[in-house]
Amino acid sequence: MANINTEHPHGQATPSAPVPTMNSSGKRRWLYPDRRSGAHASRRRNLAVILIIFYLIAPWLRWNGIPLLRLDVIEKKAFILGQIFQVNDATLIAPGMAAMALLLFFATSIKGRIWCAYGCPQTVFVEWIIRPIEELTEGSAHHRRSMDAGPQTLELRLRKGLKHILFLAVSALVANTFISFFVGPDRVAHWTIRPPTEHPMPFFVMTFVMLAFYADLAWFREQFCAFLCPYARFQSVMIDQHTPTVAYDAQRGDPKGQDKKVSLERKFGDCIDCQLCVRVCPTGIDIRDGLQLECIMCARCIDACDMVMTNLGRPKELIKIASQNELAGHKKTAIWQRPKTMAYAATLLLMTSAGAIRILGRDDLALTIIRAPGPVYTHMPDGRLGNMFVVRATNNTSSPIKLDLEIVSPKGAEILCAQCGTDVGAANVLRATAIVMFDKSLANKEIVIREKSTDDDASSILLGPN
Ligand code: SF4
Ligand code: SF4
Repeated sequence: MANINTEHPHGQATPSAPVPTMNSSGKRRWLYPDRRSGAHASRRRNLAVILIIFYLIAPWLRWNGIPLLRLDVIEKKAFILGQIFQVNDATLIAPGMAAMALLLFFATSIKGRIWCAYGCPQTVFVEWIIRPIEELTEGSAHHRRSMDAGPQTLELRLRKGLKHILFLAVSALVANTFISFFVGPDRVAHWTIRPPTEHPMPFFVMTFVMLAFYADLAWFREQFCAFLCPYARFQSVMIDQHTPTVAYDAQRGDPKGQDKKVSLERKFGDCIDCQLCVRVCPTGIDIRDGLQLECIMCARCIDACDMVMTNLGRPKELIKIASQNELAGHKKTAIWQRPKTMAYAATLLLMTSAGAIRILGRDDLALTIIRAPGPVYTHMPDGRLGNMFVVRATNNTSSPIKLDLEIVSPKGAEILCAQCGTDVGAANVLRATAIVMFDKSLANKEIVIREKSTDDDASSILLGPN
C-alpha cells in the first residue's frame, strides 16, 4: 500500500513531509475538510443516525432481564447478547473474540474498510457530531481556514469557546456511555448526580476518560486512525487486488489538467485537477496518488468528484469504489476464487460454530465440586465416613435457581448441605459447603452430585482409609 505525500495548495503538505497531516518540520498540519453532499454521504449519514442512537442507548438495553452488552469490571462478569460469562469463562469467550476479529478480516477482504467508513464510533462521532458542531459555530471549511489564518478577534475566541464547550458536553456524554459498558448506566448515573467526594476514584476515572475523548474528538481526530488504530496497520494483510477500495481511475483521468481553449483534440484526461477531492478528504490525502494507509474509505472524494464530473457533463466515477483488478480492466473475481477470503470465511465459520456449540451447550447451573480444606475424611458417630466438599454453583441464566443437591451415585451415600434451599442469584456464584456421608465400602469410588431442577452435575472421589 503506497503512502505517498502530496503537495497541494489547500494544505501546505510538502513532498518531504513524512505523513500527509504533518509538515516538513514535523508539526501537525490542521485539516479543514470541505463537505459535499452526494449518494455516499447520504447513505453514511442515515446509517450514522441509527448507529449514534444505538451506541448511546446500548448500555441501557437488556435481553432476558440482563444487560445486552456489558463487560462489568466491578461484578467481574460479561453480558453478551443474553449470555452471562464469569471470570473463569475466558475459554468460552475466546472463540467468540477470535470470530469477531475474523469477521472484521473477512468484511475487509470483501468490502474494504467498510468498518472505518460506516461503523467505527470514532468516524461516526467525528464526522456526524463534531464536524457539524464546528461548522455551526465557526462556519464552513473555507471560513474556518481564513479565520484561523487571520487575527485572533474577540468573535473568533467566542466562537471557539462555544465550540469547545459543546465538544466537552459531547465528550462527557460519550465518556459516560463508554464507562457504562464497564460498570452499568445505573452506577454512572449515581456517580454523576452524587458529590465527587463520595466516590473520588470513579470521579477521577470519569474525568480522565472524558478528557481523553475530548482530546481525541477536538484535536487528535484523523491522527487516531493514522497512528493509533491497530486495524489500519493490518490493512495490507487483509486486502488484495480483488478487494474494493476507493480508487482514482488514472487511465481515464490522466494527464490531469484543463484544456484552456476548446479544441477538437483534448490534451488532458477527465481530471481537471480542481483538487476538490483533496479538499474534502478528512485524512488529508490525495487519492489520485494511489491507495494509501490513511484512506478510511469514507467516499467523500467520490461524492466531490462526481459533482465536478456532473457539472462538466462527463460521466461520474472518475473516483470510485473498485478493486485494483477492476481498474486494470479485469472482471470482478467471485469470492470462492479468492483463497485468502475463503480461508477467512472458513476459519470464521469454524470459530463461530465452536463458540456457539460451547456457549449454547453449557449448563444453566455450572457445578464444580472440590475437596474442602481439612482432614481427608472423618468418622461419623453412626460408623459411616464423612467427606467435606465445597460445591461451587454458577448460575449462567438471568433468573435465580434454588440450589437443591442430590447424589446420583454411589447409591447409599447421603449429602448434607447448609446452603441447599437458598437461591443462586441470576448471573451469580454460590459456594456451598457439603458433607457427604457414606459406608466404608464406598471409599475411593466416584461420587456424582446433581442439582435437581437443572439436572446439572459434577463429580469427585470419596476418600476413606485404604
Ligand atoms: S475532484 Fe475529480 S476532477 Fe477534481 S482533482 Fe479530484 S479527481 Fe480531479
Ligand atoms: S481518499 Fe477519499 S475515501 Fe479516502 S479518506 Fe480521503 S476522502 Fe475518504
